[in-house]
Amino acid sequence: LPLSQRLLGRIRDVPDFPQEGIVFKDITPLLADPGAFSDLVDALADLAVRQGATAVAGLEARGFILAAPVALKAGLGFVPVRKAGKLPGPTLAQSYALEYGTAEIEVQRDAFAPGSRVLVVDDVLATGGTLEASIRLIRDAGAQVVAVGLLMELGFLGGRDRLHPTLDGVPMEAV
Ligand code: IMP
Repeated sequence: LPLSQRLLGRIRDVPDFPQEGIVFKDITPLLADPGAFSDLVDALADLAVRQGATAVAGLEARGFILAAPVALKAGLGFVPVRKAGKLPGPTLAQSYALEYGTAEIEVQRDAFAPGSRVLVVDDVLATGGTLEASIRLIRDAGAQVVAVGLLMELGFLGGRDRLHPTLDGVPMEAV
């Protein structure tokens, strides 16, 4: 089987979680399979190398699980993009709209060395709100986003279209 089919075959659909009507993509079976996990990390590390990344940013919380081994595999440092209030300051923040209410994420102001080229890693792209805010935040911190690496994209939610202007040509790849 091709890599993407093997990896996607390790993701479990959970109906009505966390709310009725949502089909949640549960990546824990993939994480529990060291062969699949390592293939995923290798593919994302390859993206980092291809794009000349100098740092890997992971989005809390599942993005952390992927981004940290990707960073090590690519020989790069890891930077956490966290929910507000978790990182010691000084930090930069971005708010974004959720279906109900708003969310806020933060990064440390000195997280990226000048001239940094960042691979942004998350597990699942849904509406794209989290990623859009993260890209803005990383740019506010003075770094260049050179690629976005994902495990999977929920195409029907239109995240890629929403991100198109923000990405502005930056490649976004799902494994
Ligand atoms: P978005 O901001 O709507 O694109 O939501 C993306 C964020 O929510 C990511 O950080 C994902 O980890 C998480 N997410 C959304 N839907 C799912 C899902 O079905 N499975 C796992 N994570 C999800």
